[in-house]
Amino acid sequence: MEKREVIYEGKAKRLYSTDDPNLVIAQFKDDLTAFNGAKKDTEEGKGALNNKVSTALFQMLAQNGVESHFVKMLDDTNMLCKKVDIIMIEVIVRNVATGSLSKNLGIPDGKVLPFTLVEFDYKNDDLGDPKLNDQHCLILELVKNEAELDQLRAMARQVNDILRPYFYAKGLNLVDFKLEFGRDANGKIILADEISPDNCRFWDIATGEKMDKDRFRQGMGGLKVAYEEVLNRILN
Ligand code: 5GP
Repeated sequence: MEKREVIYEGKAKRLYSTDDPNLVIAQFKDDLTAFNGAKKDTEEGKGALNNKVSTALFQMLAQNGVESHFVKMLDDTNMLCKKVDIIMIEVIVRNVATGSLSKNLGIPDGKVLPFTLVEFDYKNDDLGDPKLNDQHCLILELVKNEAELDQLRAMARQVNDILRPYFYAKGLNLVDFKLEFGRDANGKIILADEISPDNCRFWDIATGEKMDKDRFRQGMGGLKVAYEEVLNRILN
């Protein structure tokens, strides 16, 4: 598979075209950003850890009937993916209140939600990823119709229903996470982006320790050790 030119560069990944128009290569970067790019750093090896965690999770989800853009891991930092048109909605799934939910609505940090909450954020750095309701999504033409919004919610819940018990069995509480979806060459909506400690919150069930990017957001240190531990629990 020949890696050609950069077609997109995001905060955590670089996308390359290939000699196959339906395939791209996602290169996982060591860059860390938070607060919409206001806080920046790099952590050597972080990209490889996220590539490995995402690979294992996309493979496990595929075995459970969730289709994604994942094709195969090429090497430590490169993943071969189906080319998709990304839907510019960040689908946020929450099992426990924390982060922006606690900040915006005053729900106590750590409160287990009575049911899983699915929210939509606008994937738009210039606007700071604001919250969207269904009507906003339609007015902005981010999806074709309400049925597609229902489809995004259903797919996000399906992913949560698989991942939450999977991580629980590994001693990790899946607090919340962000998913992105895209349309493949046939227009089918499939899971895209990555699933890693960069876009999930994992709390160790035994100790309550944060095992995710909040270590960077909150200046706690120990980010790489935490990401390695998440990967080890997945692989063991
Ligand atoms: P919050 O809205 O509380 O900041 O984030 C909720 C969940 O979605 C967290 O697991 C967080 O990591 C993830 N998330 C929300 N927005 C983004 C984003 O723009 N980038 C990344 N990497 N994760 C996000």
